Amino acid sequence: MADEDQGRVGQAMDAAKAVKQVEQVAKAGRAAMLLANPWVWGAGVVAVVFLVATVIIGAVLVGSAPASGGTGQAPAAGGTADCGKPTGTPKDIIDKLILPIAHTIAFKDITPESVEAANDAHSNSTTSGNTSEHKGPPEVAWAADISNTGATAENESSMTPEMGKLADTLAKCFNVKWTGRGLVNGYKGGYRFQLIYGVGGAENGGNHFNHVHIGVSKQ
Ligand SMILES: [Zn+2]
Repeated sequence: MADEDQGRVGQAMDAAKAVKQVEQVAKAGRAAMLLANPWVWGAGVVAVVFLVATVIIGAVLVGSAPASGGTGQAPAAGGTADCGKPTGTPKDIIDKLILPIAHTIAFKDITPESVEAANDAHSNSTTSGNTSEHKGPPEVAWAADISNTGATAENESSMTPEMGKLADTLAKCFNVKWTGRGLVNGYKGGYRFQLIYGVGGAENGGNHFNHVHIGVSKQ
């Protein structure tokens, strides 16, 4: 083979390489175009959004399932909530049944000691002249005033959603026929439960807009 021929073969091989390179560049270009294509991107974003939404909806459904059947939901109206059986002295019922219910709703700070201190400081008689359940003695009668407001107005502006929920819950626990406010007695297990909230005036024991009164006495 002459030098000249060898040179041509070399050129032909270079040309073949060049074609390959062009093909590779074209491939890379198509890939780049694919990535740059807004439709491809759009479809990808839609797929990711759909996946995330599915996961979130799934998590919400799983998370809400126990709440709807558990303690997160108030018991059905007229039904009796599972609040435990009232036993012992009225003070026992306040301390062991009622205060834990208050704690689960919003009233974290109330304790048997704070109730006792408040009852020690309470006046002896009610506005209607009867002996207040706050004064006990604790084996006969006991009462707790439960509040999460410092409001003093004797009207609806002193009421709070948490106190409303507490009154609703206690009413269901202790067979009190409750319509959201009033002075109403319920009876369960040989005890009388007196619920006062959202009312005022002497006939209701004074201002009960700014606290929930729950009194317990042995029948
Ligand atoms: Zn009271």
